Amino acid sequence: MKTMTIDTERACNTCGKTFTIRSIIAATAWYWPALDVAVSATPCCQFREELRLNTGQVLRGYVYAAGTAHFADMETYAAPDLIVNHKDATGLTFTLDGVTHTIQTKP
Ligand SMILES: [Zn+2]
Repeated sequence: MKTMTIDTERACNTCGKTFTIRSIIAATAWYWPALDVAVSATPCCQFREELRLNTGQVLRGYVYAAGTAHFADMETYAAPDLIVNHKDATGLTFTLDGVTHTIQTKP
């Protein structure tokens, strides 16, 4: 299987338009520390996307409930210019393409 990167064009599950994981990482809305999940949305129709960011790698999947909430990662994307600086109960800080983003937990 060809390795996907955060610049690989993906089809939106809802409307079929394409977007890249890089574009939705940059638009991350909030961080869910208990699951280590960054919650974002597709640029085309704001369909919810759930990602786990690691240095050099992004996992794309979904959150499901089985007693408590769990994250199931379904796809792995190489992210050579992604650096995760910090993760804790207050938020997530990462650097992508030389720009540092600080994502708060859900208000
Ligand atoms: Zn869409």
